[in-house]
Amino acid sequence: MTNIYCASKNLFIKINIPNVPKPSFVWNYFGYLYKKPNESVDNEHVYCKICFDKLKDDQPDINFFSIRKLIGIYSNTSGTGNMKNHLLSVHQVKEPQQTKITNQHILSMFSRDRHSTKSSQLKQQLGHQLALMCCRDLLPFSIVENEVVSSKSEIPSRTTLSPINLNKIYDVYYQKMKEILKLSIKFPTITCDTWCDKYKHRSYICFTIHYLDSNLQYHHYSLKTQPFDESHTGEAIKDLVLVV
Ligand SMILES: [Zn+2]
Repeated sequence: MTNIYCASKNLFIKINIPNVPKPSFVWNYFGYLYKKPNESVDNEHVYCKICFDKLKDDQPDINFFSIRKLIGIYSNTSGTGNMKNHLLSVHQVKEPQQTKITNQHILSMFSRDRHSTKSSQLKQQLGHQLALMCCRDLLPFSIVENEVVSSKSEIPSRTTLSPINLNKIYDVYYQKMKEILKLSIKFPTITCDTWCDKYKHRSYICFTIHYLDSNLQYHHYSLKTQPFDESHTGEAIKDLVLVV
């Protein structure tokens, strides 16, 4: 691990697609870090080229030591799953859809089974979109039990929306949030808000992170919401902030 003070303008990411039958698409975006003209700087990690090129444009004098903290970097012994997540959550880059080769007889394509896979896919999509709609518009999951809506067989049940779809959405957003915060500034502000649920009279506390990016654009994200049953003293709030 030499050259820790090498500036980013003298570095580059070498993309090298592995010589295997079906190399993952992530290798179009991840590669080893090299110093110009052609000296390997770190042969234990792979670096995200999209993050790197952006950083290099923004801060040509930033050194290798700082680069490592700011961009997507993964050990070369780990699988490609984390890299796929990084590409999707930070750069919205998805695996290109391959044309599937099927052994199915052509007639079976028109049979009932074919229809049922179609409808289960539709059901999955609907489940995802309905759960997202409930989250964004703060709607109860019970809306799918409405008489008119629930008469449609494609509409997933309330128990499918939560927890199955809700957990999936949570995982994607959690990952995305982690990546965004990793690239944000070092000293953000955290505020909290407490409120009481009108019907069950339970108290909740929510933490929000705020910061300005390098273009002075304001960003804020909710970090956590949790029940807050103890007395609302400064001391109790401080303890919770420290955990967040
Ligand atoms: Zn990246």
